[in-house]
This record gives sequence, C-alpha cells and structure tokens, in this order.
Amino acid sequence: MSYLVKNYNRKKLSFKKGKGSYLYSSNGIKYLDFIQGIAVNSLGHSHPKLIKTINSQAKKLWHVSNAFIIPEGEQLASKLAKKTFADYVLFQNSGAEATEAAIKVARRYFYSIGKKDKNRIICVKNSFHGRTIATIYASGSKKMTEGFGPKVQGFDHFEYGDHKKLKKLITKKTAAIMLETIMGEGGIKVIPDWCLKELRKICNKKGILLILDEVQCGIGRTGDFFAFEKSKVKPDIVPIAKGIGGGFPIGAVLMNKKVASGMTPGSHGSTFGGNPLAMKIGITVLDIISNKNFLLNVKTNSKYFHEQLKKIKEEFPKIIKEVRGKGFLIGLQLFHDQTKFIKKLMDNKLLTIRAAENVVRILPPLNVKKKEINQALKIIQKVCSKYK
Ligand SMILES: *Cc1c(COP(=O)(O)O)cnc(C)c1O
Repeated sequence: MSYLVKNYNRKKLSFKKGKGSYLYSSNGIKYLDFIQGIAVNSLGHSHPKLIKTINSQAKKLWHVSNAFIIPEGEQLASKLAKKTFADYVLFQNSGAEATEAAIKVARRYFYSIGKKDKNRIICVKNSFHGRTIATIYASGSKKMTEGFGPKVQGFDHFEYGDHKKLKKLITKKTAAIMLETIMGEGGIKVIPDWCLKELRKICNKKGILLILDEVQCGIGRTGDFFAFEKSKVKPDIVPIAKGIGGGFPIGAVLMNKKVASGMTPGSHGSTFGGNPLAMKIGITVLDIISNKNFLLNVKTNSKYFHEQLKKIKEEFPKIIKEVRGKGFLIGLQLFHDQTKFIKKLMDNKLLTIRAAENVVRILPPLNVKKKEINQALKIIQKVCSKYK
C-alpha cells in the first residue's frame, strides 16, 4: 500500500544510488540514465564538487529569510548577469514558479508605466510552462487544465508555426509573447533562429515583451548556455530552473533593467527562494558549466550523438521518423506510440522518457562520456533491430 497520491503513473522501479551517468536500482541493476531527472541532473549523479559544496555549506548556513541580504544569492545573481543578457535575477525554487514569476514581471512592468490593461500573454498551444493554476492555462493544454475550475484569464494561444494566427492575436492589450525556445514536453520542437529573430522584431515593433522559457533547454543543455544564444536575440525575461541546481531545487527569472523596474519592494516574494544552500549549489553548477571546455565538449559529443542517431534512423526508416532537438535535448520521433519502445530500452538498461508526438526524449548528463553515448547507441540499435 502506498500512501502517496496517485497523480503519477510510476514505473515499478526504484533506485538506491547514482553515479555520473548511471543509476543503480534497489535490486542491484545498473542503468544508463539518459533521463537525469528530466534534464535536472546536468552534471550527472553524485558529482564530487556538488557533494563537497553541499557538505561544506550545510555546516555553515542553510536558510535565512529574504528579509536579509544573502551574499551567496548576490554572488550567483552577479555571475548569471555577467554571463547573460540579464541585468537582474529573481530566485525561486522550481520551473513553474519561475515561469509564473515571469508572467508577473511582464504584467507588473506595464502596470508600473501606467498601462494596466496591457496584461495579456500570447503562448503556444500545448506548450509546457508548469503546473500552477496560471501556468497550466498559459500552457494551453486541455489535459492539464481539466477539472481545475474557472479558466485563468489573460492567455491567448496559437499553434506552433501558425505565424498568421500569432500576428492576429496581438492587440493593444498584449503584454508579452512567451514560449519555450525548444518545446520539451511538447515533443522537442525547436523554434528556429530566424523565427526567434522575427519574434523579436514583432515585439519591438508592437512594444511587447519577449519571454523565452529556458527551464528545460537552458543551462548548457543545447551546447550553448541558452538555446536562443546563436540567434543573437535578446529576450526581456527568461525563466530557468531544471539544470541550474544539478538536482537541487532552484528556479530563477532573468530579466533586463527595464522590466525589473516594476518589481518594487513587496511586489513578489518567496520564502525558500534563493537561500544560501541553494545558491552555493547554483554557483558550483554554474562555475563548472562556465569552464572553458565544458560547453565545447557538449557540442562535440552531442553532434556525434545526433549523427549516429541519424544513421540508425536511416537504417530503420519504418521505426524512426525524425531525430529532433539540439545538443543533449534529443527527441527520437517514432511512427507509432513510443511506450513499448521506451520499455524495450529500459529492459536493455537504458532509461529514456516520453514527450508528445510519439517522441522518445533522450537527456544525458551534460558531462556524459563518449563511451556512454556509444553504449546508448548500441542499445537503441539493438531495440530497433528486434522491434516489431
Ligand atoms: C519542467 C518545465 C517547467 C516546470 O518546471 P517545474 O520545476 O516542474 O515546476 C516549466 N517550463 C518548462 C519549459 C519545463 O520544461
């Protein structure tokens, strides 16, 4: 008997420890973990530097209220600002909180300049921005909102790629366009660079804000620190979470000076957000990812992974429809439902997870070794060759 609420469809598998790219099940089986807590353990399991950080900070200070200055948070914010487009950072504890705060920041900005009716946010239908009451309505998914009461107003939706509809949706009341730079749960759909540039132009022209949700695709996942980086587009607001804590819950909203001006004392807050323990961990993760060769390795190794997966796709054109994604945010789109395929990979000791549109999502740790990629390729090849 489990006393946990049954809101998850859990696999009958549990783990007792993890090391790097591997997980060890309670009954002693070693799995190659290419889920990594859904892009959360960016440095794999039990990274020695993270263990050291947690241990040493745990002896000093875990939590103090945001009523006081928190030097560790100042330091992480400064590092993030120096590294990115951002002028200011607001710390939260999760992705949903970060996207929800991003919505608040956008609305509050227009309110603060006397445009309180400019509060609508345009989003992509069936995207994923989290599970709070506001963010499920931002996501525009029937499944996620079913049974949760009155619709939260203020969100307009267009289908991925339907630019005509997007342009039609923009009115005087539009405050922002918010989208995932790469749709994660939605099936690893990349917003192309030219499209990001167009979006920025439209936003500039209409005086609206651009929010890019990098909760899943950010923090080095694509080989660039942010997935939008190559496009040279500067968003106004960027929520992050998953990868920045390396397994410890951290969320944050990065923003420019203009929009930050609306967030005056008392306008928003979080009890846990930005505590010294979380901040120290964030600093360690960020320092490792910022190491000169780190993202270069992500680029090289993920390029190899994509190339090899495409070869497997060529070999099995009736099973794999498309290899999607960027860097280590990879989707194998199948022609049929992916459940059985994922199960077969698991039987062969490779853990992957589903996304929409029959996609098998592959999320290795960013520091995965080439021989581990080869091991995964071998398993995928084997499962394809025996697949009926
Ligand atoms: C996971 C995710 C979220 C929500 O994050 P939680 O930490 O689960 O609340 C929001 N946006 C995107 C793009 C995500 O992938």
